[in-house]
Amino acid sequence: MEAAGRLAFHLPAVKDPHRAELFSLVLRNEPLTRADLAELASLDQSTVTRTLKPLIDSGYVTESPAAPAGRGRPRRVIRVAVEKLCAVGIKIGPHAISGVLTDLGAKVIARQETAVDRPGPEEALAAVAELVGSLLDAVPGSRERALGIGVGVSGHVDPPTGTCRFSPILGWHDVDIATPLGRAAGLPVSVHNDVNTLAVAEYLFGAGREAEDFAVVTLGPGIGLGLVIGGRLHDGAEGLAGEFGHIPLLPEGPQCHCGRRGCLEALAGDDAIARAAGMPSVAAAADLARSGEGTAQRSARRAFRGAGEWIGRGLAVIDNILAPELILLSGEGIAAYDLLSEGIASGLGSCAFEGARALERLRIDSADVNLWARGAACLAIQRSLG
Ligand SMILES: [Zn+2]
Repeated sequence: MEAAGRLAFHLPAVKDPHRAELFSLVLRNEPLTRADLAELASLDQSTVTRTLKPLIDSGYVTESPAAPAGRGRPRRVIRVAVEKLCAVGIKIGPHAISGVLTDLGAKVIARQETAVDRPGPEEALAAVAELVGSLLDAVPGSRERALGIGVGVSGHVDPPTGTCRFSPILGWHDVDIATPLGRAAGLPVSVHNDVNTLAVAEYLFGAGREAEDFAVVTLGPGIGLGLVIGGRLHDGAEGLAGEFGHIPLLPEGPQCHCGRRGCLEALAGDDAIARAAGMPSVAAAADLARSGEGTAQRSARRAFRGAGEWIGRGLAVIDNILAPELILLSGEGIAAYDLLSEGIASGLGSCAFEGARALERLRIDSADVNLWARGAACLAIQRSLG
C-alpha cells in the first residue's frame, strides 16, 4: 500500500479509515480504475465501491471514461477533484503566524505570514482569524469552497477538543483554539502539535517520503520532535509524545521555561545560544560568529558548538531508542547549521550506540517554510473526509 494511504489510515480524526485511505491512494496514483484501487488498498471491490460513493457524491473525486487505449471497453477512471475544494493550513509560532491556502491535493495556492512576538492567546487567535480571512479573500471563490482549517501549534495539543494544553514556548495553558477560531471563520478547525503537522507533510511530500520510520527534529526557539513509526504518526498517550526539547540532559542546568532545569531546549534553544554568545538574539550571535577571528567571534562560535554538542547528545537518545531510518533536522535553527554541525556530529557520534551509523542517518532538511502549514492543511483535508 502507498505510504500516504497508510498515514491517512492512522490519523485520529478520520472516522472511516478506508475513506481517507482511498482518497490518499487516488491522490498519489491517479488516474485509477476501481480494480486498481482495490488492489493497491488490499480491499475487495465491493468495499471500494461502497467507500467511494460518499466521496463521489460530495465531489471529492470524480469517475469518468478515460480515453480508450486500443480496442475493448472504455475504462472508467477515478481522479481527485483537485480544484473543487480548498483548505487552510496555519502554523502558530512565537515569532510568526504563517498560513497557506491549498487545493484538495494540498498544493499551495496562496501563502501569507504575520509577524508576532510571543503572542498571548487572544492576540494570536485574532491574528489567525485575520490571516484566514485574508487567504480566502486572496483567491476568488475560495471562501465557498473551503472545507476547513488545520492549525499547528507547539506544545501539548489535544486534537479531539482542539485545545493547546500547554505550550512552554508560547506560555499558553489550556487554550481552546478550535471553538473561537471556528466561530470567527465559520469553518471546522483541526488542531495538532506543529511538529506533527510537519512530520505529516514530510511523509507525504518531503524528505520523509521514502521512509517508513523517521524522526523530524526542529531547531529554533524551541526544539521539537515529530515521529513517524511504521508509517504511522506517533503522538503517544494523549498526544504527549515528542517533547524532545524537554528531555533532561544536565542536572541543575539552566532554568527551562517548562519549569524544570537542564532541558535540551534550555541548553540549545535560540535563547540559550544568544545568552552564551552574549548577544541579544541568535541571528546576531550567528552574524558575530561568522564575522572574523576576534575573542568575541570565537566565543560566539563556542556557543554554537556547545549547543550543537547538546543537540547531538539528544539525537543520540532518539537514535538509541528508535534507530529510525532517517533523522531529519529541520526548523528555522537550521539557518545556523554551519555553526552547529561540528558540535552535533561530535555529540551524536560519541553518544549514539553506533555513532557512525547514526551520523549516516542524519539529514539536514532545508525544508520549505510552507511545509508546516501545508501539513496542517492536510489534517483539515483528512478530517473533512470523515
Ligand atoms: Zn523544559
